[in-house]
Amino acid sequence: RTEEVAYVQPVAPASGETRQARSTAQYRALDAAHHIHPFSDMGTLNRTGSRVITKAKGVYLWDSDGNQIIDGMAGLWCVNVGYGRKELADAAYQQIQELPFYNTFFKTTHPPVIELSALLAEITPAPFNHFFYCNSGSEGNDTVLRIAHRFWSAQGKPSKKYVISRKNGYHGSTIAGGTLGGMGYMHEQMPSKVEHIVHIDQPYFFGEAEGNLTPEEFALARAQQLEAKILELGAENVAAFIGEPFQGAGGVIFPASTYWPEIQRICRKYDILLVADEVIGGFGRTGEWFAHQHFGFEPDLMTLAKGLTSGYVPMGAVALHDRVAKVIVENGEFNHGLTYSGHPVAAAVAVANLKLLRDEKIVERVKTDTGPYFQKLLRETFANHPIIGEIAGTGLVAGLQLAEDPKARKRFANGGDVGTICRDFCFNGNLIMRATGDRMLLSPPLVITRGEIDEIVSKAKKAIDATAQQMG
Ligand code: PLP
Repeated sequence: RTEEVAYVQPVAPASGETRQARSTAQYRALDAAHHIHPFSDMGTLNRTGSRVITKAKGVYLWDSDGNQIIDGMAGLWCVNVGYGRKELADAAYQQIQELPFYNTFFKTTHPPVIELSALLAEITPAPFNHFFYCNSGSEGNDTVLRIAHRFWSAQGKPSKKYVISRKNGYHGSTIAGGTLGGMGYMHEQMPSKVEHIVHIDQPYFFGEAEGNLTPEEFALARAQQLEAKILELGAENVAAFIGEPFQGAGGVIFPASTYWPEIQRICRKYDILLVADEVIGGFGRTGEWFAHQHFGFEPDLMTLAKGLTSGYVPMGAVALHDRVAKVIVENGEFNHGLTYSGHPVAAAVAVANLKLLRDEKIVERVKTDTGPYFQKLLRETFANHPIIGEIAGTGLVAGLQLAEDPKARKRFANGGDVGTICRDFCFNGNLIMRATGDRMLLSPPLVITRGEIDEIVSKAKKAIDATAQQMG
């Protein structure tokens, strides 16, 4: 054990015990006894035991056995400024002493939420000047549904209720977020779904394009499904279209350049709100502040979370374009709110986080330096690799498609089995990489250096080579 890993978060002693860190086995036993994990098969997990993460700094994590692991996923796509930033700890500490909580209901407000709103108005593109706060991306998307309905009903169009989303999109795990998302395995476990939500196909060229369509033709055809769906439902019944500018959890699926301009054209033509779920893409991931800027369209609403606080404390938000904000602001009470809407500690941490992203030019560096370096290195390293079919991404996000026959765009049978094998090789090589089906995903902290990018890509190469060898 090194000095670094000797540190383990102390636990409060039971009365009479001396204060001591628990062993990995003890942590695992307690975890298995009392903790239900999200999106996990607890039976399997309790047999294998979880990895206990005890400490993090920069782009590295340490587990309770002393392994140093490079985090290729920035936690869950959220630790944009990297781990261990004192500025964020100080902001939380000071705010907790000054005003740990007060609400923003009933005509009250407080300095941190005021500062955050002003800063967000500065950082977001020009027409976004109003923000509604919540605690997560899921709550942000619930809020989007509330705002969209309010927007249309306040203008005498209450029948505009349908929201169109995409299969294999991800918008959270509350009932509304889960319904908006297009994940069948989540829908199956819901007691009921939110009404008036329908899905069209995703722009997943490698997986779903047939025949000789170019990526651009395919993306255009997939965008035009929106028009067909609007005509089927009647434009007078459709409130909004929502999509992640690139699908994150769905596999880092990047649509060709024809997709978003066509979606925007259709939304404008039929007077439908266009919502960008920027929970993953926001705050610098693509090298732009927001991913819709990379794809060249202008949403009416944006869902924000994750990178808003770099995950140090929970916070989500919805950004309202002026044309939407005007209607919400001028039409009386908006009957929606959460106890922790605009929580002062979360807001103070968000302000400190956004200042780091801006003042240390972290987003600019992703665009001009580390992003292009990462993308080029991935493409060079995996050129003509026997099981890599596609590398998607820009800035510091990438999806690597594992395929049985890359040239023929032939995927492996039993989608997901090979991704799991590869993910385990990564894990054993002390690299965190996520697998969605047979797509291997990377989304490291935005402060990553070129040297650390080299480390991630070489570890990924080892894991993918080992996977290729196992597949014969
Ligand atoms: N929207 C997108 C695009 C996401 O990726 C996620 C989470 O991964 C969410 C919404 C839900 O956010 P949360 O888990 O904070 O509720």
